Amino acid sequence: MIKDKNDDYRLFWDEAVKLIQSELTKQDMDLWFSRVCYDSYRDNTIIVSVPSNFHRDQIKARYAQLIETKLSELSNGYLNIEFHISSNPNEKTAAAAVKAPESQPKEKDMGYTRHISAVEKQHPHLKKEYIFDNFVIGENNAFAANATMAIAKNPGTSYNPCSLYGGVGLGKTHLLQSIGNFAYQKIMNLKIVYVTMENFINEFIQSIRNRKTQTFKAKYRHADILLIDDIHFIQRKPETQEELFHTFNALYDSNKQMVFTCDRPISELKDLSERLKSRFSRGLTLDLQPPNYETRQAILNKKIELAGFFLPEESINLICEKITTNVRDLEAALTRLIAYSELVNKPITPQITEQQLKDFFTSNAIHRNVPINIIQQTVAEYFGVSVKDMKGKRRQNKIVIPRQVAMYIARDITEYSTTELGLEFGGRDHTTVMYSCDRIAERMKSDPFFADQVEALKKKVIEANVTA
Ligand code: ADP
Ligand code: MG
Repeated sequence: MIKDKNDDYRLFWDEAVKLIQSELTKQDMDLWFSRVCYDSYRDNTIIVSVPSNFHRDQIKARYAQLIETKLSELSNGYLNIEFHISSNPNEKTAAAAVKAPESQPKEKDMGYTRHISAVEKQHPHLKKEYIFDNFVIGENNAFAANATMAIAKNPGTSYNPCSLYGGVGLGKTHLLQSIGNFAYQKIMNLKIVYVTMENFINEFIQSIRNRKTQTFKAKYRHADILLIDDIHFIQRKPETQEELFHTFNALYDSNKQMVFTCDRPISELKDLSERLKSRFSRGLTLDLQPPNYETRQAILNKKIELAGFFLPEESINLICEKITTNVRDLEAALTRLIAYSELVNKPITPQITEQQLKDFFTSNAIHRNVPINIIQQTVAEYFGVSVKDMKGKRRQNKIVIPRQVAMYIARDITEYSTTELGLEFGGRDHTTVMYSCDRIAERMKSDPFFADQVEALKKKVIEANVTA
């Protein structure tokens, strides 16, 4: 998208100004930004002109960080900012704006409109593929899909808040972002904030560290639609829970739409303050189930069409028979076939499908949804310790080894992140999980007997899950 042409970067500046505008008062906006104009682009740096040395120093001191953050968000850390003193005769227009602060400088307005109409209007934090049109509806997700569509059309009116839960790869993020994308395209001037809970937590911590909690609060409490992905990460984060509680109340009281996703029903969240839990449980709750055979076929066909690819029907049926877990696994299978076809420059046959996806069909894919408690129980039983100890604080070797082995197996066969696993193992830090897995991997390398034991246990876990 980024071409090395001076003017193409004006769009980034205009978008950044828009984001900044939503965080400042109109007065400050007029005072400090109405006379700042996009000038040029050079070496990853956007150069804007300001009317005087004084203006430059002031705007730098007050807003340099905010501007940098916004540009960096929009460009994924690619763009910086520099201020030049304007020698531009257009300053006259700008000076007029001081006398009549209500009116924005003309050429800036025009610049913005021109560029926006030249590109697809796209929210900087939402994936453009995550739209309702790309979401295949089946009996497993029809209610969730229709309800989220209704929310996108009329945010803040009836289903507020809404929470969407289900296992990995079933379309939670897709639907959540579809709400944002739809509303962003169809309704003017809505402030749509999408954030993963992990980022929300990090931003909050950063804002405390940098004494910028007011900016943080303003960003979230002035949203018209707040979309938070994977709220289960807020477990065991009491300060962030407190902050989100107040954000929730502010938005709820002013009828602003909130939508959350979670990997389990809200009632099953642990270490969450009762008052926040009760807030999350208000409104509408939607669940996503794994797709059945017909829906898997419809989804795979849609993905094939979007990729502009061809697969024989027999291959499609084979994949849909074998991969029953979730949509992410279906996509991964298709991706592998497309990559193979491009590599050998040949179309995919049913034989190639079978051969290329062999381990896919037999190994990990069908075990990705093994619940952590089954892993913990199986490993604990094998070593003769209790699951409670495994999640507890005791540090004797006879507890630590089973704990680390369970973490290692969980990391190996499931899709849970180290942060999630830390939570499941008594609220440990993700670095502890990483360390534990490394320890086991090392020991397996140096001790073949131990390695066999772990591999055997892994099989046991998988069997336990199949018979559970
Ligand atoms: P989750 O957030 O529940 O883990 P995602 O929303 O990330 O899952 O979905 C995983 C992948 O599967 C995404 O690429 C998404 O587009 C796709 N997907 C999930 N459900 C559907 C569906 N019903 N139709 C089309 N694509 C889907
Ligand atoms: Mg997700």
